[in-house]
Amino acid sequence: MAQLELDNLVKTFSDGSDEVVAVDTVNMSLNDGEFLVLVGPSGCGKSTTLRMVAGLETVTEGDILIGDESVIGTEPRDRDIAMVFQNYALYPHMTAEENMSFGLKMTTDLDTETIEQRVTETAEMMGIEDLLDDPPKELSGGQQQRVALGRAIVRDPAVFLMDEPLSNLDAKLRTKMRTELKSLQNELDVTTIYVTHDQTEAMTMGDRIAILDDGVLQQVGTPLECYHRPANRFVAGFIGSPS
Ligand code: ADP
Ligand code: MG
Repeated sequence: MAQLELDNLVKTFSDGSDEVVAVDTVNMSLNDGEFLVLVGPSGCGKSTTLRMVAGLETVTEGDILIGDESVIGTEPRDRDIAMVFQNYALYPHMTAEENMSFGLKMTTDLDTETIEQRVTETAEMMGIEDLLDDPPKELSGGQQQRVALGRAIVRDPAVFLMDEPLSNLDAKLRTKMRTELKSLQNELDVTTIYVTHDQTEAMTMGDRIAILDDGVLQQVGTPLECYHRPANRFVAGFIGSPS
């Protein structure tokens, strides 16, 4: 059974008299625990797709199901989803620990002790246990992204959404975090859509990849399928073998 399903999803923005179709009838279905990489060039509609799933953007047409239930019309906080952004989006006035515990305090009725315990365990998993008292501005980019990932993981969501989480990091750290994120994913087994414009990230991280161009899904398949049997010229040029 699919854990996350996007069903004929459409998003249009009106830009004065023009209408921009940012996401054009996208269908995809993620299995429980699957790590799907949504990849495509800048402006192709990746962030808009994620933002609709997260509830940060309204849906023009179509449906989004988590488990068997449509989440259309529900508030972001009522969706069993945690999202990680490119710019980390940490609360600047809170410590790392407060950043991680805030969501649990707001959306669950767990007691303080349980929340503290979960934050500590997650911080250890992310290697940030010594940074818990620090505000974001005292942390490096890599450390901030670990806190942002920790803040998502600690909520133990049904679905993770990650929007280019590594693209603000330098190349060396990005490679390291890529490996770490992948093994974390294997351990946590949470259904994930991971957005990137980076073909290497897509090829090395995805159980399957979904390739988007101009709002239209071009192919969904394993990295090897897309590489060896690209559905069309766009996929071949973007990710496939140069045949
Ligand atoms: P990506 O994340 O793949 O770079 P986006 O989802 O951010 O792409 O954008 C897809 C398209 O939708 C682009 O043409 C972008 O200009 C447009 N777009 C995104 N957000 C808005 C908005 N709030 N208003 C108008 N157009 C938007
Ligand atoms: Mg984007």
